Amino acid sequence: CGIVGYIGTQQAAPLLLEGLTRLEHRGYDSAGVAVLGGSGVRVAKKAGRVRDLTEGLPKRFTGQVGIGHTRWATHGPANDANAHPHTDEAQRVAVVHNGIIDNAAALRQQLSDDGVELTSDTDTEVLAHLVARSGADTLEGKVRDALAAIEGTYGVAVLHADFPDRIVVARNGSPLIIGVGEKEMHVASDLAALVRYTTTVAHLDDGELATLTAGGFTTYRQDLSTTHKLAEQVDVDP
Ligand code: GLU
Repeated sequence: CGIVGYIGTQQAAPLLLEGLTRLEHRGYDSAGVAVLGGSGVRVAKKAGRVRDLTEGLPKRFTGQVGIGHTRWATHGPANDANAHPHTDEAQRVAVVHNGIIDNAAALRQQLSDDGVELTSDTDTEVLAHLVARSGADTLEGKVRDALAAIEGTYGVAVLHADFPDRIVVARNGSPLIIGVGEKEMHVASDLAALVRYTTTVAHLDDGELATLTAGGFTTYRQDLSTTHKLAEQVDVDP
């Protein structure tokens, strides 16, 4: 339902939780965040309110890169396991997803035939495993491979412990907006989660991917050729 992401020089978790609070009016049943710190990917997620997630957040949930999600369940009930972010078996990859993966049942079957232990009922979880299993040597390539295997709609944001300097995002039918800050970048599914931090934004188009680093962003087509998208100034009522 709602996506937020942050990469920069501040602690990610408080910013992500604040962003998720600003998406609450859209409705949701669960919430979660993942941060990339010295010890790899850490995830906190829960059925219920963002406030419950915030109060139950583990100590030292630190890292300057992170993603967050409010879920409106389509595949699987609203419980802690089905809340996003979803991870691969090695806990190296974390994914948040808005939308519906139409061929999730077939992909879940293939993954479990290959010995992958699925830990949720969601369509989204397959993305984390597909990213982890891609043979591509860049995160952009891994995400492209995963998206090539799925049919359906998505806004996605992906973290990978092997590529700690970036977040890769992609959109097909579900909005994603990049917010440009000072030595930091934000991403969200709704302007409402960004305007507190920046009014310099770039809207992803359907079929586009983007890489966010602390220093900037690059947008791509599915073949990873760049789309040279520039950020623009938005007017917002205070
Ligand atoms: N289809 C996904 C799920 O059920 C994402 C739903 C959403 O957009 O929040 O977990």
